[in-house]
Amino acid sequence: MDDQDQLTTLHLTRLQQLRENTPFPESGGEDSAILRELASIERPLLQTLLQECSCSAGDILFREGDPGNAMYVILAGQVVVIKGSLDAPTVLGYRGPGEIIGEMALLENAPRSASVIAIENLRLLRINHEDFQVLLNNRPGIGRKIMAVLSARLRNTGNALDSSTQTGRQLTQRVSQLYTEKEHLLEVQRIRQETSDLIVHDLRNPLGVIYGVLDVLKMVLPEDVLNANQELLNIAEDARDRMKRLIDSMLDVARMEGGITALNIKPTNLAQLLERVVRFSQLNAHRRQIHLHTTIPHPLPLIALDEAKIERVLANLMDNALKYTPQSGEICISATLEASQVQVSVTDTGPGIPEAERQRIFERFAQVQGDHAARRRGFGLGLAFCKLAIETHGGKIWVEPGSGGVGSRFTFTLPLNSA
Ligand code: ADP
Repeated sequence: MDDQDQLTTLHLTRLQQLRENTPFPESGGEDSAILRELASIERPLLQTLLQECSCSAGDILFREGDPGNAMYVILAGQVVVIKGSLDAPTVLGYRGPGEIIGEMALLENAPRSASVIAIENLRLLRINHEDFQVLLNNRPGIGRKIMAVLSARLRNTGNALDSSTQTGRQLTQRVSQLYTEKEHLLEVQRIRQETSDLIVHDLRNPLGVIYGVLDVLKMVLPEDVLNANQELLNIAEDARDRMKRLIDSMLDVARMEGGITALNIKPTNLAQLLERVVRFSQLNAHRRQIHLHTTIPHPLPLIALDEAKIERVLANLMDNALKYTPQSGEICISATLEASQVQVSVTDTGPGIPEAERQRIFERFAQVQGDHAARRRGFGLGLAFCKLAIETHGGKIWVEPGSGGVGSRFTFTLPLNSA
């Protein structure tokens, strides 16, 4: 046997699995023709030609590049024929009982063009190159026939290799196409992002005008007209504030995602901030007969945070709670002080959020599809802003079902030492 060495268990298992999962073409039947010719040789000569030998699963019969000095007939067991390294082999095929391997060595005394590895225990018959030459000289007829069959076998092996190289080339082409498509998509995404940032930025001017006009109206309109139209004014102011929050969120999300985050951190009275947000929501809640509860411990220590951003986080959570809670429902705002952080929750009695959506809704433009989707008025940006803002402060935000599995509870934490 040629230089025989042993395969690692990992490589052996991989080659065995490949055999089970991959339909490799069977050999073309030329082997039985060779065996027939060999069998026609009288016994004494045959016995000097063929030596029986065996090897174990994992043995490498010969490696690509080894000197080719013998051919084998497999009596029992199976081998794999591969080209290339053991880590990324090109499998040319598998051979089993009654099949022949290493036949090229009989045609030419050249190095092995492929490696052959036992993937099961083997029993083999071996024919040396020199002995075969003797056969060619003594029995030119049999020798010619065996040569014809061997060269047909060589052609088949060549074809198998060609088609595997072609598949490799097609795969490489596809991978490079996918890379180009990915680059293109990233470019389109970048342009879209820049355009939307520009539009959002420009929306701030007309919004500034609306702010100014509403304030002027409140100053110049006679008091009785103002009182008679207070409800309309409230609606307009409410819509204006929501639009401002949306625009600010879009700009902030883009900035924070781009890593440009300028937090204006100051020691802040979180209890006052919570009460202010609740006060702003009172009117809206009252209109829809929603009960607002607060559980805020006093005193809360001053916490270092960006007041405007955390106020917007709370306003977004309150806005959503009001949007999704049915008439006569309840919203509870609570804060708890822990050793190293403060935890704030907004709990509602709305439809709740399906478990599968609880992480996704914090992504940009994510909205829950379903029966309450018709009520939505936003763009799926509010929670994306909340997540980015809270995480920039070093905290966490998540959603879970409310008490007794009813509604949603949005909770965020802020570290007490975030300054
Ligand atoms: P939107 O502006 O669409 O409300 P958000 O980012 O604030 O965007 O919320 C994303 C989605 O999460 C909403 O469209 C809604 O489907 C769901 N959602 C948010 N808050 C609640 C809530 N309190 N109850 C039920 N669903 C909610």
